[in-house]
Amino acid sequence: MSAGEAILNLLFPPKCAFCGALMEEPADGLCPACRSSLPYPSGKGELRTVGGFPCAVALRYEAMVRQGVHALKFHDHPQRARVFARYLAQASAEQFPGGFDTVTFVPVSLWRNYRRGYDQAQLLAEEAAKLWGVSAVPVLRKIRNNRPQSTVKTSAERRANVLDAYTVPHPELAKGRRFLLIDDVLTTGSTMAACARCLMDAGAESVVCAVLAGAEK
Ligand SMILES: [Zn+2]
Repeated sequence: MSAGEAILNLLFPPKCAFCGALMEEPADGLCPACRSSLPYPSGKGELRTVGGFPCAVALRYEAMVRQGVHALKFHDHPQRARVFARYLAQASAEQFPGGFDTVTFVPVSLWRNYRRGYDQAQLLAEEAAKLWGVSAVPVLRKIRNNRPQSTVKTSAERRANVLDAYTVPHPELAKGRRFLLIDDVLTTGSTMAACARCLMDAGAESVVCAVLAGAEK
């Protein structure tokens, strides 16, 4: 630990990225209790299919994972993203070895991004990309402010709600690319599928998806 890190640890004692417990040993960002009980501790996670696209699900959206993602979303703890990104990156690499050449993410609307100051999916994508020594590329843009998917009841309504909500403003960024498309939480998958479809329509060669956490199907 450098002197700078030691001072930072005094000022901001390290907390578990998942449950928020204070940690004495700033090891890998999570407390022993969370480490021993994380769903999918093997690192490979689970493979699902969303709208015909394969999606790596790093962790199950429950208990301390839900708590950690909630903190990432609604409080100002972007440093958690670094810890979470390791799980996301590991699951993606194990499910899709050599299967992508560009990392991108599901965008939030400019207004929501402005209100919160950052976009949690972008943050996760940037931290995951860093682990591979590359940068996440913003390719998609949200052009329509649909209702939050959590307020829409049926899956047909959810699909309609995200239809035409996303676009690729610069198709040259998508053409011929093999994308890894990242989001934080997978619920029905209709947002992820709409974004993946949008990348393909813009000329992408392929799209595989990855999320930090997947809700019960
Ligand atoms: Zn914990």
